[in-house]
Amino acid sequence: MGIQEKQNDVGNKSAAVGAKSQTTSSLFPTYARYPISLVKGEGSWLWDDQGNKYLDFMSGLAVTNLGHAPKKVKEKLKQQLDELWHVSNLFQIPNQEKAASLLTSISCGDAVFFCNSGAEANEAAIKLARRYHQKTKGTGRYEVITFNQSFHGRTLATLTATGQDKVKEGYLPLPLGFKTVPLHDLEALQAAISDQTAAVMIEMVLAEGGVHTVEPEFLKAVSELCKQEGILLIFDEVQTGMGRTGKWFAHEHYGVEPDIFTVAKGLASGFPAGAMLGKEYLRDTFTAGSHATTFGGTPLATAAIIATIETMIEDRIPERAAKMSEYLFEQLNEKLAGISFVKGIRGLGLLVGIECEDSVANIVLEGQKRGLLFVNAGPNVIRLLPNLYVTEQEIDQAVAIVAGLIQDHISVKNV
Ligand SMILES: *Cc1c(COP(=O)(O)O)cnc(C)c1O
Repeated sequence: MGIQEKQNDVGNKSAAVGAKSQTTSSLFPTYARYPISLVKGEGSWLWDDQGNKYLDFMSGLAVTNLGHAPKKVKEKLKQQLDELWHVSNLFQIPNQEKAASLLTSISCGDAVFFCNSGAEANEAAIKLARRYHQKTKGTGRYEVITFNQSFHGRTLATLTATGQDKVKEGYLPLPLGFKTVPLHDLEALQAAISDQTAAVMIEMVLAEGGVHTVEPEFLKAVSELCKQEGILLIFDEVQTGMGRTGKWFAHEHYGVEPDIFTVAKGLASGFPAGAMLGKEYLRDTFTAGSHATTFGGTPLATAAIIATIETMIEDRIPERAAKMSEYLFEQLNEKLAGISFVKGIRGLGLLVGIECEDSVANIVLEGQKRGLLFVNAGPNVIRLLPNLYVTEQEIDQAVAIVAGLIQDHISVKNV
């Protein structure tokens, strides 16, 4: 191709880019986005660029647990912005030490690895489990067993761990070393365990999978089985952690402790951050250079984590979430009583699912028009995730809107 032609090509391309930018986005279309641009948030409320106000019962998918722009976190972040944003993990980072000691003081974990997301925290957990068996125990164990309908993230390893086929489409070949069994089927789990099993990974509430709460007897049995077989137990608390269920971590409801657990969504009030916590006997499994991430636990990220945890301690947030959860369930049970379209109301704390007879997609969209933001969990389940400072009055408002939406949905269906 001559120079002349090449120049023409470039000319054509820039003309095409110019034309395209008026009609389409420059982003990969990985999300089915709602036609709303949110521009401001405060507490339980959000505003769009048209000036419409919304009551937020999704909290960025269990991320903004302290509401939007919580004052103490904002102040701490502003202060840190003036001091230092980022240094390499090759240096001492006092904020990171403090965030880790706060996290271990509120949980059963003894050692922390900071990262940036839930998937990355789960990757760290899978790596720690494999390395524990292979380096510390000297065995060849590598396999991780997870459950149908689970969700553990979108990296190649964590989507393989995820018990939902839709996240795996088009990504073959998947990494080796993962098996999935039905939830609440102890025999299937027993059958899946072999001398290659390194860990079992489970959520206390399968949130993305439809808000299915794990039965206490099952979790106890899984824990005993793991102990008996020398298998590590990993709890994925990415969505259920940080007070969301009315305890700091959902596993406290069960009286069962994991060897490893992960957090992310509510960890830093919306600043991207994740963490993997392990018991003392796992600390020396990781050595210098065995795992790392550039942005994990920066001064800025850990300032947000510190402020989030300190605020939660000060304001007794887990307790508050438990109280508000009682009220929310009471109101939902009362206002949705006798509606046959509603098949069940379930969940833990302020992670609540309303199972319906068929698709709730239109109910979610109609909710936005009436000023209430919430999401589905699977096709038929309405998922409510208010922030943990939510008031009774806000719950009343949200429940009234949800009840109205369901009533209207039924009457439209019956026409
Ligand atoms: C959201 C979520 C993840 C993935 O977290 P990302 O930050 O999106 O990578 C993993 N596990 C559970 C239970 C989640 O809810």
